[in-house]
Amino acid sequence: MKKVIILGGGLAGLSAVAHLRKRYDVLLLEKEAIPGGILKTTNINGYIFDHTGHLIHSLNNEMKSFIKAMKLSLIEVKRSSAVYIENKYIPYPIQLNFKYLNEKQKIINDILKSQQEIVISTDTNFYKWVENYFGKTLSDLFFIPYNEKLLRIDLSNVSSDWFSRYLPIPDKIEMIRSLKNGINDAGYNATFCYPQSGGIQVITDKMSELFKKNIRTNINIEGIDIENRIIKTRAEKYNYDILISTIPYPEFLKLSKIEANYKIDYVNVYDLNVGVKKANFPYHWAYFSGKDLPFYRIGSYSNISNALVPKERESFYIEVSFTDKRPNKEEILKMVEQVGIFKIEDIEVAEEKIINYAYPIYNLDIKRLRNHQRQFQENGVFFFGRSGSWKYLSMADIFKESYQIF
Ligand SMILES: Cc1cc2nc3c(=O)[nH]c(=O)nc-3n(C[C@H](O)[C@H](O)[C@H](O)COP(=O)(O)OP(=O)(O)OC[C@H]3O[C@@H](n4cnc5c(N)ncnc54)[C@H](O)[C@@H]3O)c2cc1C
Repeated sequence: MKKVIILGGGLAGLSAVAHLRKRYDVLLLEKEAIPGGILKTTNINGYIFDHTGHLIHSLNNEMKSFIKAMKLSLIEVKRSSAVYIENKYIPYPIQLNFKYLNEKQKIINDILKSQQEIVISTDTNFYKWVENYFGKTLSDLFFIPYNEKLLRIDLSNVSSDWFSRYLPIPDKIEMIRSLKNGINDAGYNATFCYPQSGGIQVITDKMSELFKKNIRTNINIEGIDIENRIIKTRAEKYNYDILISTIPYPEFLKLSKIEANYKIDYVNVYDLNVGVKKANFPYHWAYFSGKDLPFYRIGSYSNISNALVPKERESFYIEVSFTDKRPNKEEILKMVEQVGIFKIEDIEVAEEKIINYAYPIYNLDIKRLRNHQRQFQENGVFFFGRSGSWKYLSMADIFKESYQIF
């Protein structure tokens, strides 16, 4: 039997084990004591927090059959989300609810003039695409400041193919029609599912338990010898025929002592989880594009399920992206209070989490990165997972793509 080593025990590593363990001799090496990666949940005095909202959108057949086999119960929830702009909330998506904005006439004039050609490619940059599609006014009001805040990079270096899947793309007629009645249920996440009890970690806990024979934890990898197909730790050497790396791609390159001759951009996410006595926020989540506000999104765990909070309490995740300097908790909370979501004096618990490599950025070098990743296949190396394959993958995508790693 061929020996497969999987680096990293997040959802990607675990789902790879699930598909390969019957046909190969599979061993997963994880650096932490508990597998699960960013699908980890904490419980602080009855407040259940994930690494920001982890909701199951677009539940595909692959994920459904896993959930069924693991006997996990899910709740299904109809999305209620908003965009905070001009000091008020308007329903999401903004491109079908701009009738609530002051500049709606200008926006509609732009849309009538726009080309609306869907040029989704790794060569078309974000500015060009978004202005071509939604017009300059709406782009300047929301899409550009929001994405500049989230990605912290000049958007002329970002290709248009990564976000197009996540952004509802209505045509001109629909956008004009939305002037009469806004449309709130567009997009890939109009409904979502979530575990009935516990946090999102129940999924990776079940998988880790099922596959425990194939998993080694607390592994500190010191080097990867691509040519000789060996993983080295201080104490041991692991030989393989096939290697699947789900650890962050830049970390993989470092461990393999390989230099990339292309640019690799990403942002980390600071997640501030907060439990409060009372709050004023009726949505599951809202997007914040304002440059004066540090967060790009705030969501409410308690509005998703009241099983995630003690009785009569509310809880939130506040997401701030960063590259070098860790965001400041006090400054963030001051601005949350300023937009009126909750008062600082009502906070009962607060927890800070860091998600490194949270958003791999599809910059204009992405084709070179993908070509380089393909070249590793000659040496039996395959990349999988969100920061492993450098693809913006959801949980459901990971279940689906785990059938096609090689
Ligand atoms: C902010 C944010 C919000 C998200 N929200 C959603 C959502 O609502 N719905 C959804 O479907 N998806 C969501 N996702 C995507 C989802 O989190 C990912 O698809 C999934 O968790 C990625 O799993 P992974 O195994 O690829 O990565 P990870 O979970 O990062 O796992 C990588 C693993 O590798 C291990 N590792 C790292 N370095 C080493 C090393 N040197 N040696 C050994 N092991 C190592 C880590 O400890 C970790 O266990 C979100 C992602 C982010 C960042």
